[in-house]
Amino acid sequence: MKQIQGTPYNIEDDVVGRISFGKRNIFGRSNDILVCKDADSSSFGYLATITETVAFKGKGKPYCIVEDIADFHEGDVVVINAKGEIIFVYEINSNHNALMATERCNHRCIMCPQPPVLQEKDKTPFNLRLISLFDKKTQEIGITGGEPTLIGDKLFTLVNHIKKELPKTAISILSNGVKFAEKEYAMKLAMCKHPDLQIDIPLFSDIAEEHNRIVGAKTFYKTVQGLYNLALFHQRIGLRVVIHRRTYKRLPQLADFIYHNFPFVAQVAFMQMETIGLAKENFDELWMDPYDYNIELREAVLLLADRGMKPYIYNAQLCVLPEDIRCYAQQSISDWKSIYISECDGCMLKGQCAGFFESNRQAHSSHIKKIEHISSDISC
Ligand code: SF4
Repeated sequence: MKQIQGTPYNIEDDVVGRISFGKRNIFGRSNDILVCKDADSSSFGYLATITETVAFKGKGKPYCIVEDIADFHEGDVVVINAKGEIIFVYEINSNHNALMATERCNHRCIMCPQPPVLQEKDKTPFNLRLISLFDKKTQEIGITGGEPTLIGDKLFTLVNHIKKELPKTAISILSNGVKFAEKEYAMKLAMCKHPDLQIDIPLFSDIAEEHNRIVGAKTFYKTVQGLYNLALFHQRIGLRVVIHRRTYKRLPQLADFIYHNFPFVAQVAFMQMETIGLAKENFDELWMDPYDYNIELREAVLLLADRGMKPYIYNAQLCVLPEDIRCYAQQSISDWKSIYISECDGCMLKGQCAGFFESNRQAHSSHIKKIEHISSDISC
């Protein structure tokens, strides 16, 4: 999440609120944090104030001085803590907003970008409050973790609250699918009757033992059962495959396995690895130049596409991909994480390319080269 540092005054407990530049009338301010340049701005009725004016007088109320208020937008939702850290938990201009249901997980994936914690405070009350602060026009909200199903039925509380507060917003749940091996749990998700919900589930190999080695648990067949149960209740499912040294060789076989066993999935995303968390710790074991798995990736993507399924490629750089599969690439990297490097200057595909994870600034393909001519249409 984007985060900036300010200097806090009168802040003891976290302040959670929606950013406002003072447009609301006095009765609609109780959930808002005022952002202003002017030292004399009236902060009456607001939860707190963020300003770049050192002379600002808080009159005993919470406020935070930052270097530049240009980082804020009307409708963002932030948490200001006692250390003056301002954490953007929702960005109005982003298409990648998500709720962290829990940081706990029942898997220990060798490339997990966010290693799980063992214990934590229940995040559901906080998440319910966030949902109420999000803009009503939000296109999509992710529910992620950790493993979101570890919060049990509270997951459905979140789904139902989003449905009520943000009726036009799609939901994307990222889960390892294990809990859905319980038919009743899959049924409860279906009973939420959300009109636009997709559940994305990682599958790393067509061989159970290999998948289990990657996720650090013997759960392959539970995930498979979870997929069948979700399909039984007509839930929209996406599959995710993270590509690294341990998964790339059997991508075509995995694609074939998916085609034969899970023809009902709405999409299959092949994802370049983000090198943070455990992926950074296990870098030598996992990292390979994405250029070096192009043959397997191309075969897997075209195998699915030729058979009428919907493959996608996430987090990839267009110049590294073979031309005939570039059209499957998505701009999948969250805005706050995505960067371009100097080699991208002047590239004709910059606007369409996902770019790089900030964390992959050093670890990227050695085949990055700006594209100066487009020889063919990159749409599928
Ligand atoms: S040069 Fe940069 S912007 Fe262009 S395709 Fe490659 S990675 Fe993307």
